Amino acid sequence: MSIKVAFLGLGHMGGPMAANLVRAGYEVLAFDPVPAAQEQARTDGATVVDTGAAAAAEAEIVITMLPNGRIVLDAYPDLLAAAKPGTLFVDCSTIDVGDAKRAAELAVAAGHRALDAPVSGGVAGAAAGTLTFMVGGEAEDFAAARPLLEVMGGKVVHCGGAGVGQAAKICNNMMLGISMIGLSEAIVLGEKLGLSHEKFFDVVSTASGQCWALTTYCPVPGPVPTSPANNDYRPGFATALMTKDLGLAANALRDNGVDGQIGLLAAEVYNRFNQAEADKDFSAIVTDIRTRSGEEHQ
Ligand code: NAD
Repeated sequence: MSIKVAFLGLGHMGGPMAANLVRAGYEVLAFDPVPAAQEQARTDGATVVDTGAAAAAEAEIVITMLPNGRIVLDAYPDLLAAAKPGTLFVDCSTIDVGDAKRAAELAVAAGHRALDAPVSGGVAGAAAGTLTFMVGGEAEDFAAARPLLEVMGGKVVHCGGAGVGQAAKICNNMMLGISMIGLSEAIVLGEKLGLSHEKFFDVVSTASGQCWALTTYCPVPGPVPTSPANNDYRPGFATALMTKDLGLAANALRDNGVDGQIGLLAAEVYNRFNQAEADKDFSAIVTDIRTRSGEEHQ
């Protein structure tokens, strides 16, 4: 396959995503400032270059998987200036909807094409090539990127125009954060009232309170053996990442005049928990609610 792909940002997510593209036969020009990430990319079969611009100059598609919107917007001017006209920029980072729209505007103004394509599925999904991609941008650009996204993902959805991929991501994660807090409050209330975790699960998992946070990711050990609660809340999906995504959702609520009282409160609740337990899985919020309710761990 002759398509050259620049891949910038070879961290927990980008590293295995780039490796999957190499395995599928794409020629991957990779850049990350961290030597260990470069070394791993070399081992995975990518061609490591000295700068992001050097990668972008040679590629038909430029994929970025970077920590935040500031870093994406800081990196774009050099990349856009170096790239050949009409290069397709695909930003897979999770960033503000406003930053995603700005990045797309910059790319188009420089004569290029752009998609926002954030993911869910975590490091395990990145390694297995089973991520969900939520994509914003023009239909023909989506069609051009789709074969690559399908190498890295199990589900690829074109959500709408520029920024709407990020919108889908933060709407989903805002609901997840809210439901995990609500579920955890109900579990701690049940504990106080003498309701065992097993009976709670037995009833609620098939009643109107049923939700993914309970049935797939139960925040207390026992009912769902694969959930992080059974593994001392090792992530999974770290509290730091949930806090970041709820912060992005809170920005979007404010920027768009949405009266999202619970979404804003969820961002505050996780922000506080994140000060102490950033590395714990986000479902450990149940332990914080229990502690603040004056109960020892059960
Ligand atoms: P990470 O910190 O492990 O990786 C980011 C990488 O980007 C680092 O290796 C860093 O050195 C590199 N980098 C920074 N500036 C750069 C630049 N200018 N050019 C090239 N590389 C640069 O983060 P991650 O966990 O891989 O997450 C990446 C993005 O994916 C974030 O936006 C995150 O919110 C999102 N995300 C993460 C997960 C997850 O489970 N980790 C899940 C879904 C989405």
